Amino acid sequence: MGNLKYKRVMLKLSGEALAGEKGYGLDFDVAKSIAIEIKELTSMGISVGVVVGGGNIWRGRSGEGMDRTTADYMGMLATCINALALQDSLENLGVNTRVQTAIEMREVAEPFIRRRAMRHLEKNRVVIFAAGTGNPYFSTDTTAALRAAEIEADVILLAKKVDGVYDKDPHKYKDAQKFDKLTYIQVLDKGLQVMDSTATSLCMDNDIPILVFGLDNPENIKKIVLGEKIGTLVCKE
Ligand code: UDP
Repeated sequence: MGNLKYKRVMLKLSGEALAGEKGYGLDFDVAKSIAIEIKELTSMGISVGVVVGGGNIWRGRSGEGMDRTTADYMGMLATCINALALQDSLENLGVNTRVQTAIEMREVAEPFIRRRAMRHLEKNRVVIFAAGTGNPYFSTDTTAALRAAEIEADVILLAKKVDGVYDKDPHKYKDAQKFDKLTYIQVLDKGLQVMDSTATSLCMDNDIPILVFGLDNPENIKKIVLGEKIGTLVCKE
């Protein structure tokens, strides 16, 4: 297909996105609807990497009174559960996938090996990156930025519950204004809740555009790669 805006994408799915309306745990209907869209991308010849979060199961900062590192490892393990669920949904649709984990668990998934990930992507396999960066004190947003740089993705597609970046919470304020485009510096300066600052800085330093969009309509993913203006683009200028 000649009119594709992006040829290799990094899709970041928060744990919340996989929880659907329930807000916790896994909603397999939601996982299926996301998998259908990912399948469509692969059939358009787009190579797809996915980073999954874990917030629907556990977040490091939920572990009040716990050792932070231990709580973060629990969060990283939560992302592995989500990765396997998404892999299952994709494979049910006949999509070839590999899960690569940043913490070795060879009986469950491949360890993250960049060259291997690149080879899978070239073969049109969807690579799901799990266990975050493998380090505590980081987030899966930072993982998405890091892996996007490593696999040379054209863009990070950051799926959110809202349809873009606003100047204030659109659920609370009726007059909240949506941005069509922002620079990394504006996001950092205004303290906008797009990604955490580590992730935003990593994207800025490596010139990786971030497209923030709403997953309320999973078809948005396909529209974006076909060049439709959806959500908020965060880029250099
Ligand atoms: N986490 C971590 N290092 C990483 C990625 C994730 O320690 O590189 C832990 C952290 O505790 C985080 C949890 O895993 O709270 C789940 O990830 P995240 O909160 O980013 O998930 P999301 O909000 O996207 O569902």
